[in-house]
Amino acid sequence: MEPPVRLNCPTCSRRFLSDETPAMPFCSKRCQLIDLGRWMNEEIGLPHEGDPGDTPVEYLDDRDLSQPTPERHNQSAHRFDG
Ligand SMILES: [Zn+2]
Repeated sequence: MEPPVRLNCPTCSRRFLSDETPAMPFCSKRCQLIDLGRWMNEEIGLPHEGDPGDTPVEYLDDRDLSQPTPERHNQSAHRFDG
């Protein structure tokens, strides 16, 4: 048997001994569930962004080079009188 270790509960910051709790590293089952609930909420709440490493690499075809790329002419000349 190992001697009990003094710990801080990550949920309620209470100090307790490791042999006092059935739900290590929390001080009680309740705190364990609270912490678990937090993780679940965070996973659901966070928007899942695609991994940049997962995107397939696209290779350019030669025929695409023969077609002229359409250019935008957004620069409209505005004249300010005065
Ligand atoms: Zn606790």
